[in-house]
Amino acid sequence: LNAEHLRCCGRLYIPGRHDSYLAALSLINGVITLDSAAGQELLSLDAVRIDPAGTSLLRRIVLQDGRILETPDNERVDALAHRLNRQALRQSLRLSHWAERWRRLTLVATIAISFIALGIVALPPAMGWMADSVVEMIGPDREAVIGQIALTEADTTFLQPSWLDQAQQEPAHRLFTDLVQIAALPDTHPRLVFRHGGPKIGANAMALPGGSVVMTDELLTLLIHDEDALAGVLAHELGHIDRRHGLRLFFRTSLPDMTEYWLNHNDRQLGLRVAELVEILAANAHGQRFELEADAYSLALLQRAGRSPDGMIRALNKLSMSDQGSSSQTMHYLQSHPPTAERISHLQSLVAHPRDR
Ligand SMILES: [Zn+2]
Repeated sequence: LNAEHLRCCGRLYIPGRHDSYLAALSLINGVITLDSAAGQELLSLDAVRIDPAGTSLLRRIVLQDGRILETPDNERVDALAHRLNRQALRQSLRLSHWAERWRRLTLVATIAISFIALGIVALPPAMGWMADSVVEMIGPDREAVIGQIALTEADTTFLQPSWLDQAQQEPAHRLFTDLVQIAALPDTHPRLVFRHGGPKIGANAMALPGGSVVMTDELLTLLIHDEDALAGVLAHELGHIDRRHGLRLFFRTSLPDMTEYWLNHNDRQLGLRVAELVEILAANAHGQRFELEADAYSLALLQRAGRSPDGMIRALNKLSMSDQGSSSQTMHYLQSHPPTAERISHLQSLVAHPRDR
């Protein structure tokens, strides 16, 4: 198949009429045209939808005005669907709405003024603040796209498909659904996915921008017999999602690049940068503040769920015991800055003095 030139031939049905016409839909260099006895029409990309309900014998391409092209050309319809999806992903990475343009403009001005006003001395804390200001302007839809890129990248580099079957994953999914319901995060629909970590990732979990929590088979196996510990880890990851730590980390780590690619709609570069950054998430190098924040969130959520607040502490203990036997090549779940002992004592102090939270 010629990637630059896709042509699907079939019959065109017009709503409210009984007859049909021979017609052909072509995608040539990103432009869609419809040829029929009535002549040639130019269609916009979002005016064309592949109907998933079509059979494998006759596929249906639905046009925005209700006309339907039925075609037996399975292979080309699949190729067309693939191209349209890619185009849609590209478009969603592009900001075109006026309000967003205005916000971007204000942002550029804010960054410029901040640089001048804050000077060199205040730069490191100012960078964190600026990164967070950029993240504030990224809506949930775009965060989800960045998260999708991150997961795809993780899947092609260091994660393997899960070795566990549905029944083995089920207890974790049930716990996760309960916690998500109690957490009631606005604008986010967290989901739990399983992957095999292998020697490099081991027992690990990470929260991606957009709400995907990736847990490795190894971590589930380690905690499967301790429901509160498992709930503790899941609640901790929900804490990262609630505070948007993943996205904030990406922008903190690489503020100039991420902002530039984001402002200039350079989705390819943005994707490449996200691909590099996702390893930081896997190594759980969130930094002390984010980890302690997520621990405190986990504790509060466990208590709201009527679970033992010791869950997270037990999970940390189990992880640190299992880590002692692993090689230095492993990206430890516990590789994060605050040492485990410090995190445990922080959690214990929160349990003892809930008002400090
Ligand atoms: Zn964490």
